[in-house]
Amino acid sequence: MIAVYLVLLLGPALIPLPARTDFIWNNAVRFAQFAFWGVWWPFVLLSTALVGRFWCGILCPEGALSEWASERGAGRAIPAWLKWPGWPTVAFIMTTIYGQLTSVYQYPAPAVVVLGGSTLAAIAIGARYGKAKRVWCRFLCPVSGVFGLLAKIAPLHFKVDGPAWHRAQPRTGTKPPVAVNCAPLVPIKTMRGAGGCHMCGRCSGYRGAIRLAWRSPNEEIVAVGGETANGWETFLITAVLMGMATGALQWSGSALYVTLKAQIAIWCLNAGVSWPLDASLPWWMLTNYPGDRMTLVDGAALLIFIAGAGLLACVTCLPALSAGAILLGGWSRRRFHHLAQALIPVAAAGLFCGLLSLTVTQLRMDGVRIPMIDEVRSLLVGTAGFWSLYLVYSIAGRYGPSRFARLGVSAAISVPIVATCGVWALFFLG
Ligand code: SF4
Repeated sequence: MIAVYLVLLLGPALIPLPARTDFIWNNAVRFAQFAFWGVWWPFVLLSTALVGRFWCGILCPEGALSEWASERGAGRAIPAWLKWPGWPTVAFIMTTIYGQLTSVYQYPAPAVVVLGGSTLAAIAIGARYGKAKRVWCRFLCPVSGVFGLLAKIAPLHFKVDGPAWHRAQPRTGTKPPVAVNCAPLVPIKTMRGAGGCHMCGRCSGYRGAIRLAWRSPNEEIVAVGGETANGWETFLITAVLMGMATGALQWSGSALYVTLKAQIAIWCLNAGVSWPLDASLPWWMLTNYPGDRMTLVDGAALLIFIAGAGLLACVTCLPALSAGAILLGGWSRRRFHHLAQALIPVAAAGLFCGLLSLTVTQLRMDGVRIPMIDEVRSLLVGTAGFWSLYLVYSIAGRYGPSRFARLGVSAAISVPIVATCGVWALFFLG
């Protein structure tokens, strides 16, 4: 995987950009572009929702390099600043915005900066902190927060049998079993969810208490979510996945973006400042290629559009979640964050189907059309919306209110769910 990754990442950056007549199957740049953004990115997300974080534990070249460096590195203790739980969310927002500003999906050089920079940072962190651990993956990787959320709905996980663990307690004088090296630092004995587990399988069978098992995809969100959900996850689900990421995937086809850009241009001209309308920056700051250039006005409009999408998602989701928490017996932060977990299916489906646009567009450019793909994507997001609604109803049931109150909570939280489904359906079909 490391070899494939390096070839696909560095190779295209060393050859000329493709011409309009080049295809995925006869041009290395187009092929790498399709492999990274048309296949890898959307389908790794899908696989995480289906079988957990197998990608992270078995296939990810970045994680493997980080652990390899950690085996040979300084092995220092992990400092407190590095354990700040907001890093994955902040890193995801930054890479999403930077990727859009530099057109990472279209050009190989910004892909080298984003992916290559992340890989170098993973190696550096591995070489400095932890011994044979994946400190980068656990605390800093920009996609670990999103993968952690998606793994919660995976029907496959490593199940820990508490009583069996205790029964296997070694008797005094006997040799204890060799400890498992859980590279992403999951507290195996008390593990109750799949969010942090990389599915590497190293602990499988340990003390006869851990095994790969099926479960209901609702189980972790409904039964465990109340204890593990936190503010960063709520922010990631609502403001980032349902807001900023949606904006980042939709801006290029949005009439609102064009209006916003025109409005900024008018403000500049009214203020007697015309240079931002034509000024550009180097490619590694703002898209700048022959025949494809973003001006400062384009960049500013893009930033405002993405931030506005995040704000709109907050305005839609947070009051609805608050109302739901209150209806369950008075305001409670725990209930608020627990209810937010119910939005994971609809947020994840929007992200996956939105990213499929990259796959669909690249194939369309080469004359390959997938029939009914837009209808199928709309249907998928709609189905995920119903799933989210069912989760809201189930979570409400755990706090024991009447059926009437549960329906009230579902009605309140249906607002952001319907809004998300509507925004995506409009994007796919409109
Ligand atoms: S060692 Fe076990 S708990 Fe840790 S990542 Fe691997 S499978 Fe998950």
